[in-house]
Amino acid sequence: MENVMRNFFLFLSKNKFLTRSAKKYGLRFGAARFVAGETIEQAAAVIRDLNEKGLKATIDYLGEFVDNKKEADQMADNCINAIEAIGREKLDSQISLKLTSMGMDISDDIVMANMKRIMEAAKENHVFVTIDMEDYERCEKTLQIFKQLRLEYDNIGTVIQAYLFRTLQDMKDLDEYAPSLRLVKGAYKESSEVAFPDKADVDENYKKIIQMHLLHGHYTAVATHDDAIIEFTKQFVKDNNISNDQFEFQMLYGIRPERQLELAKQGYTMRVYVPYGTDWYGYFMRRLAERPANVSFVLKGLLKK
Ligand code: FAD
Repeated sequence: MENVMRNFFLFLSKNKFLTRSAKKYGLRFGAARFVAGETIEQAAAVIRDLNEKGLKATIDYLGEFVDNKKEADQMADNCINAIEAIGREKLDSQISLKLTSMGMDISDDIVMANMKRIMEAAKENHVFVTIDMEDYERCEKTLQIFKQLRLEYDNIGTVIQAYLFRTLQDMKDLDEYAPSLRLVKGAYKESSEVAFPDKADVDENYKKIIQMHLLHGHYTAVATHDDAIIEFTKQFVKDNNISNDQFEFQMLYGIRPERQLELAKQGYTMRVYVPYGTDWYGYFMRRLAERPANVSFVLKGLLKK
């Protein structure tokens, strides 16, 4: 049943009609639990509050699978707007973005021009930029673009998904770039030809890449809500004398907020991924796909109205 629900919400997450309608009608159906608002001012207020509680942030202007230059350029403008707000308001925040929203599906020139604009603004404002990882089809291209930008900028990182078979090789290939990586299980619906179908295998591979990246001395963001993985990481760094400066935990806004605070109080760097913007629909559907409890939360909210 859980698998059927997961596939259903992942299917809905790609529906273009619903994506467009959601933009028109504003944050609905309990999405505000996972999305910090539609404007940068609303998102900045959420980040300020997180910072006051000892949590760091990475802000994401929501948007994906953009297919025209005008929209891609606007998405980049919005990212720059967020970077400038971080600088101006001295927020303790990085930014995260998706290359498909910067024009990756349109042309190499468009995505690179937008990324260069963003990276220059980020450099000026001392803001770190993480390129989120999208579906398998875009993985190779995303890594290529990351590598190209990494040669020019220090303040850039990307994401590696434990569920992909290619991941161990990707980590080896990335090693020479000394990359700062966010390690995740993976959020998209992928075929069993390219990704581990069993959760236990994904978890094993996840542990493997966490160990590998930490032992190679690179900065590691362990982005998960899974206590088993969090405890594994804590023990591993302790056993290997790895300092707290070399890694951090990350979780999504609205998911396990008490655990986020607890980890920060224990002295770990805890970063919250804060999405905002009008294009919240695909992101929201993926959160529902992840956990049936999230769906019942939304249904309860609807029934109360
Ligand atoms: P799961 O296997 O989903 O959950 C494991 C356990 O965690 C559960 O059994 C439960 O014990 C606990 N748990 C999970 N959710 C809850 C909850 N709501 N309340 C209580 N307990 C809970 N994916 C990508 O593909 N690309 C990206 O760029 C990307 N960026 C991410 C950035 C961040 C900061 C985070 C946190 C995730 C990101 N993801 C990304 C999503 C990621 O790939 C997973 O889909 C998502 O994090 C769910 O997997 P999980 O590791 O939390 O563990």
